[in-house]
Amino acid sequence: MSEAGTTGAPRVAIVTGAARGIGAATAQRLAQDGFAVAVLDLDEGQAKGTVEAIEAAGGRALAIGADVSDAEQVEAAVARIASELGAPTVLVNNAGVLRDNMLFKMSESDWDIVMNVHLKGAFLMTRAAQKHMIEATWGRIVNLSSTSALGNRGQANYSTAKAGLQGFTKTLAIELGKFGVTANAIAPGFIETEMTKATAERMGIPFDDFIKGAASMIPVSRTGKPEDIAHLVSFFVSEGAGFVSGQVVYAAGGPKA
Ligand code: NAP
Repeated sequence: MSEAGTTGAPRVAIVTGAARGIGAATAQRLAQDGFAVAVLDLDEGQAKGTVEAIEAAGGRALAIGADVSDAEQVEAAVARIASELGAPTVLVNNAGVLRDNMLFKMSESDWDIVMNVHLKGAFLMTRAAQKHMIEATWGRIVNLSSTSALGNRGQANYSTAKAGLQGFTKTLAIELGKFGVTANAIAPGFIETEMTKATAERMGIPFDDFIKGAASMIPVSRTGKPEDIAHLVSFFVSEGAGFVSGQVVYAAGGPKA
């Protein structure tokens, strides 16, 4: 329980979009690794489920309701985390939404919502949290990109945002490296969550069939679980990963999206 802290006090991690899916699994994994975890999501009530799971396993966590695309809410959330849990030195920018549509049918609001949550959200959260990392001369930032960054039909907005997050990650690595802060991105392939379930529903395919179809094209013959991504986050935020920065790891069960 104390790998995360070098002085005995636990380090504090923020995971956005942690009420469910990849974020919830990541929050639980980081708590197991010894971090006190701020479970941030749009709705504080929804975030409480993840907090209860962490506490039941003997960890420490705080539910925080905030919209990552709203600067005032982000600043208030990070200030509350710093005062109630301690200065955050790990940030996982995971909150995400889909507004898929073919380009000719994509509305301005489909575009804006996706850019605001993924790109502006990661920018605002990172800007608010980095000062604590710089003060501590230690920090770890992990951004959730996607294999869609390489291009995906029906996702002009999402693929642009996820590719943008890769450039953001590399720039953070360059700017913050001298303060002991690393920044890396994870680009998952198909992970079984509410997000992929909603895509299956929209396409009118039962989720089990959708999973089987995807698995048949993945070299390891299965789709991913949230825990697969949480494992990689755990590596990137570990003490020993301090020389790995500005990288994008495709976690997709094979080399291709
Ligand atoms: P998910 O199950 O849909 O969970 C996303 C969470 O983010 C939800 O709890 C959602 O809250 C929250 N959220 C949305 N907008 C927010 C905002 N403005 N502020 C704070 N929280 C917000 O998604 P997931 O599948 O776990 O995906 C997590 C991340 O991995 C996303 O960035 C996604 O793009 C990326 N990813 C996923 C896959 C995959 O196959 N699942 C693949 C590649 C990349 P609400 O429920 O209240 O909306």
